[in-house]
Amino acid sequence: MKYDEIMVRYGELSTKGKNRKSFIDRLGSNVRNVLHDYPEVKVHPDHDRMHLVLNGSDSDGVMARLQNVFGIENYSPSVKVDLEQSAVDAKAIELLTEQYQPGMTFKIDTRRSNHHFGLSTYEMNDHVGGVILQAFDDIHVQMKHPDVTLRVEVRNNGIFLSSHTFDGAMGMPVGTAGKGMMMLSGGIDSPVAAYLAMKRGVQVEMVHFFSPPYTSQQALDKAMELTGKLTAYTGKIRFIQVPFTKIQEEVKEKVPEGYLMTVQRRMMLRLTVALAEQRHGLGIFNGESLGQVASQTMESMLAINDVTAMPILRPLVSMDKNEIIDIAKKIDTFDLSVLPFEDCCTIFAPPAPKTRPNLERTREFEKRIDVDGLVAEALAGVKMTEIKPGETFLNQQEDVFAELL
Ligand code: ATP
Ligand code: MG
Repeated sequence: MKYDEIMVRYGELSTKGKNRKSFIDRLGSNVRNVLHDYPEVKVHPDHDRMHLVLNGSDSDGVMARLQNVFGIENYSPSVKVDLEQSAVDAKAIELLTEQYQPGMTFKIDTRRSNHHFGLSTYEMNDHVGGVILQAFDDIHVQMKHPDVTLRVEVRNNGIFLSSHTFDGAMGMPVGTAGKGMMMLSGGIDSPVAAYLAMKRGVQVEMVHFFSPPYTSQQALDKAMELTGKLTAYTGKIRFIQVPFTKIQEEVKEKVPEGYLMTVQRRMMLRLTVALAEQRHGLGIFNGESLGQVASQTMESMLAINDVTAMPILRPLVSMDKNEIIDIAKKIDTFDLSVLPFEDCCTIFAPPAPKTRPNLERTREFEKRIDVDGLVAEALAGVKMTEIKPGETFLNQQEDVFAELL
């Protein structure tokens, strides 16, 4: 079937009263972003629905993109006919023919915004239902959970019919919750945390710490590649790389081994807070899950969180590893995350980090390094890029990459 439009129904945002307009505007621009390479598609975000006029472009390709946009409850590809009853009847038969199976059930669901056209809503349901019953043998009307719901929308510019409705990504439009800084490593967890933050409407900017020459170019490329994957949900994402070598060397030299991890994490957090302040971020997201590793105990969170009052949000806090892995597979970050390019934390990880660091002792040990000087120096070396959908970073090492996968 050649479709003319895709009709998009909004999710939770329809309950959000006075924010509604800005939510819909944001959803409209997010949809335009993911369809940036479909210039012929026209996006009309109206009060209760969004209409995507396809102007000849491929509906499957467009729907594959829509599938990832948060704030959409469901969507239906529709065909347009003239404001003529005979055209509606013929198209209804054509749509049902594609899906017909003996014994199937259906209903007609009519909506009208054009109140001048012929039949009322009720009459239209009745009439088109009758047309279908006549055209097919062994087909039955059923109001609750029919096999096919044939939607008929009578609008001023034509009548739109659809017989398929697909579930959207749900959640809130990215950007409606404000901006957050996402601490993105190359691991399994943080990309999943980023996805969940975006699902609740957060516009994330990635902050990644790297430590050359202890970490390779591939480790950095991998974090960028993961960011590229996540652009499927929002369009471009800012990637902020922070040089961390000097800090790690200093901490390693001056802080007792059991506290290396805690002090390193405090430094990462300070830097992320500074970036959030510069860039108007409202909070910090990370991929911690309680109890997963040494640095992810509540004692450890207390000792690390001590450096800021900015909210630190942990979307994975109560999830089990296998639940996290399921999402990583669904969002297609898992295969990248398991590539064995060491990141800065693994390389400087002490053999036995304290799982229950003491806050007072942490503060004392930290006095042995020049916190402010090191923060300022790292911030001066920050590099920012904007990563766009389809960009790829690991392909320079294609051979290595293919072998590892
Ligand atoms: P992940 O799978 O996200 O790497 P992890 O299980 O390896 O997590 P940790 O190494 O303890 O856990 O890291 C906890 C969190 O700290 C990460 O989820 C991430 O948010 C942040 N983090 C760790 N390393 C980095 C890094 N190099 N750059 C930015 N953030 C980092
Ligand atoms: Mg990690």
